[in-house]
Amino acid sequence: MRKKFVAGNWKMNLTKSEGIALVKALTAKGPFSIDVAVIPAFVHLDAASQALVGSNIGLGAQDVYFEKNGAFTGEVSLAMLQEFGTKYVLVGHSERRHVLGEKDELLNKKLQAIIAAGLTAILCVGETLQEREANKTFDVVGSQLRLGLAGVDKSKTNQLVIAYEPVWAIGTGKTASPEQAQEVHAFVRQQIAAIFDPAVAAAMRIQYGGSVKASNAKELLGQADIDGALVGGASLKAEDFLGIIAGA
Ligand code: PEP
Repeated sequence: MRKKFVAGNWKMNLTKSEGIALVKALTAKGPFSIDVAVIPAFVHLDAASQALVGSNIGLGAQDVYFEKNGAFTGEVSLAMLQEFGTKYVLVGHSERRHVLGEKDELLNKKLQAIIAAGLTAILCVGETLQEREANKTFDVVGSQLRLGLAGVDKSKTNQLVIAYEPVWAIGTGKTASPEQAQEVHAFVRQQIAAIFDPAVAAAMRIQYGGSVKASNAKELLGQADIDGALVGGASLKAEDFLGIIAGA
């Protein structure tokens, strides 16, 4: 039985005081029976980690650089993230892929570094609208999985979560239907079985992301292969995010 996992990606939103207020409003309703995480901007990790003390909400980072230290202006290392008790790190969010131009090879280096450091990587995959309309969804998602997970040892796959996030559904208010999402989630699980083995696939948590709200969370997360949600916009308000947690 896979434990549901709902994570809130704040992206480049919320000031420090807004973030602390949000974390306090969430912790006040805990502890939760599912896994829950908040993923603030780097500059709020310290404050968020302090506000999370005593709760069972995990802390995540939106990105990381794969090198340990050095002349990489603007980048952040895993050791820096670990000092704040960061447990999860997003890899290959669609905005990193499509706005910042990150390629699979770089994402694979990041993912391997996260796993080597003992943290959990949330590998985001998903097709653009153009790719979906050209019937390339499975090709794109399959390739992102193979390249992103290359070289990962089977014994470390408990440090992995996959997030299927159709790019056309992120921040657009358009949600994949439960059937559309389930179809791709089942495909992701098959691919995980092919890359690793069926036991790894059966245990792998696959989140859905793309305009998840309190009103659609229950139906989406009720699908056989949907094990949680990666939430953007609706994670910025406690009431909305708590509604999704309740739906899960
Ligand atoms: C996301 O940030 O990964 C996301 C899915 O955003 P939204 O929920 O706003 O679509």
